[in-house]
Amino acid sequence: MLVGTQIQKEALELWGEDKQANMITEECLELATALLKYQRNPCDQTREAVIDEIADVFVVIEYGPMIFNASEIQNRINFKLYRLRDRIKAESFEDIERKKIQKDFRL
Ligand SMILES: [Mg+2]
Repeated sequence: MLVGTQIQKEALELWGEDKQANMITEECLELATALLKYQRNPCDQTREAVIDEIADVFVVIEYGPMIFNASEIQNRINFKLYRLRDRIKAESFEDIERKKIQKDFRL
């Protein structure tokens, strides 16, 4: 996992953990709002706003491992990715079984 760029480290030193943690909150809320506006009115302007806010979140999310514990966060990422993989496998299996049943009923 990347743990902050030099620029983000400098920002953290300059403004401190509390303000940069607040930036994570602020940018995530801006992204959520932009996504809602895009869903309500999909157009070039709302799409560009989503892209801009995703970029903001990518920049500020790097403060997370710098403020909190990077290895703990990495462990949780790994857990959640493995859980997602298992859910995909389970869903795929259920889909295959569902298609078999549908095929059997057509015969
Ligand atoms: Mg923003």
